[in-house]
Amino acid sequence: MGKSTGFLEYERLEEGYAPVAQRLQHYKEFVIGLDASQAQIQGARCMDCGTPFCSNGCPVNNIIPDFNDLVFRGDWKHASTTLHSTNNFPEFTGRICPAPCEAACTLNINSDAVGIKSIEHAIIDRAWSEGWIKPQIAARKSGKTVAVVGAGPAGLAAAQQLARAGHAVALFEKNDRVGGLLRYGIPDFKLEKSHIDRRVEQLVAEGVKIRTGVLVAGKNGLGKDSKITNWAGETMAPEQLMAEFDAVLLTGGAEVSRDLPVPGRELKGVHFAMEFLPQQNKVNAGDKLKGQIRADGKHVIVIGGGDTGSDCVGTSNRHGAASVTQFELMPMPPEQEDKPLVWPYWPIKLRSSSSHEEGCEREFAIATKEFIGEKGQLKAVKTVRVQWQGGKMSEVEDSEQILPADLVLLAMGFVSPVAAVLDAFGVDKDARGNARATTDFTGGYATNVPKLFAAGDMRRGQSLVVWAIREGRQAARAVDEFLMGRSELPR
Ligand SMILES: Cc1cc2nc3c(=O)[nH]c(=O)nc-3n(C[C@H](O)[C@H](O)[C@H](O)COP(=O)(O)OP(=O)(O)OC[C@H]3O[C@@H](n4cnc5c(N)ncnc54)[C@H](O)[C@@H]3O)c2cc1C
Ligand code: SF4
Repeated sequence: MGKSTGFLEYERLEEGYAPVAQRLQHYKEFVIGLDASQAQIQGARCMDCGTPFCSNGCPVNNIIPDFNDLVFRGDWKHASTTLHSTNNFPEFTGRICPAPCEAACTLNINSDAVGIKSIEHAIIDRAWSEGWIKPQIAARKSGKTVAVVGAGPAGLAAAQQLARAGHAVALFEKNDRVGGLLRYGIPDFKLEKSHIDRRVEQLVAEGVKIRTGVLVAGKNGLGKDSKITNWAGETMAPEQLMAEFDAVLLTGGAEVSRDLPVPGRELKGVHFAMEFLPQQNKVNAGDKLKGQIRADGKHVIVIGGGDTGSDCVGTSNRHGAASVTQFELMPMPPEQEDKPLVWPYWPIKLRSSSSHEEGCEREFAIATKEFIGEKGQLKAVKTVRVQWQGGKMSEVEDSEQILPADLVLLAMGFVSPVAAVLDAFGVDKDARGNARATTDFTGGYATNVPKLFAAGDMRRGQSLVVWAIREGRQAARAVDEFLMGRSELPR
């Protein structure tokens, strides 16, 4: 612990944002990270608790007190090594993790948590700019081959760990670029895609063979879930993959969006968020698109109060929407959590993102009854107020309203992975339609099909980038153990 009185002397300092009017002009990141001396002072706030609840709160169990102390002492290189010992991609989590570690910080009981995420962000940006991040090429090859299907954060983390263990890894991705939802979903203003490209170069140098534009699927392809991003020019049958590789890991995400089958769903102007957001990612990457879904001058209603909805708000405002309204079915949560009741767990409270700050009406406890159109084009939305009692929802009498709408974006989460892909491999599913596999220390991540494993959102359902990284790392260890009888990869 660098400074025993740091938490008494220094206040928490938040990262800054560029002004709204300025950042709405572009799709680049606008967070102004801490400089070295600011990060050092923030590191000094850490109390180095005997039981570091923060590390338990972090899904990859980052060794937070250690890197806080190293930053306080100015040993940035060692801080980067410590950070990488548990997390393959801190530049992703340092930008877009909701930071459950901070909810679990002991200081958060009666003060402001240590700014762990901003310190992580500062360490990793420094590490890249100093050139400390180099490929870690395995000294010995195992002679074993592994296919990883799906290049989101889970697949990327697993592929990197497996290559470092000496296996010949092929990473298959149906889209034209790797990254999963980091690439096509999460807007560039939250995460610029050069961060992914830089890591991909590292993976390739470490020996991972990346094959984009390849859909791994049976004769039913993606089944009826055809609105899913898919720029594959080639399909590979599961049987071929299973025959060619010593082990196969499925990290295909949970890509089936939740629909809202109310009257008028078929109208032009009603889209899934995951039709809208990836298109803007593509345009930002320099691709030419015909008929991009745009919000310019439109009254936009985003249905769904979570992260995906908030990303639709930010993107619609950058398009120049006339108005943006976001609906949430649940009532407005309290602004402050009851800390003694919920600490060190993730609290339910009102969360406002930088996209909300850019302009958005937020409506809570509201349900959509109907999409109203004229000549096939969406014109309005019929809503009703709802109330919740004992976990049950009911409509409030005489509370129907008609709101003008030219574009509706459905951002109500994801139901499950694509069933047709799991079925083509013969994988058992759990009650929610995810690939069934445990996370047990022995035999974890293994599906019912011999030598076939599953991890990330495809196994746990819709989640977070940091959980995907954790699952990718742990699944890599499970695959390594299966192939070699033992593994030195960290869990
Ligand atoms: C709009 C949006 C915003 C989000 N914002 C955040 C955030 O701010 N912070 C956060 O922590 N989390 C966020 N999330 C959640 C997070 O992105 C996911 O939990 C995470 O990306 C899951 O990682 P994954 O590797 O399991 O799957 P994915 O990222 O979904 O990647 C799966 C990959 O597998 C490929 N694939 C699937 N099937 C096949 C197949 N049959 N053949 C070949 N390739 C296949 C897909 O094309 C995709 O590239 C957000 C999600 C969305 C949709
Ligand atoms: S990965 Fe997320 S939970 Fe873990 S230390 Fe970083 S911000 Fe906190």
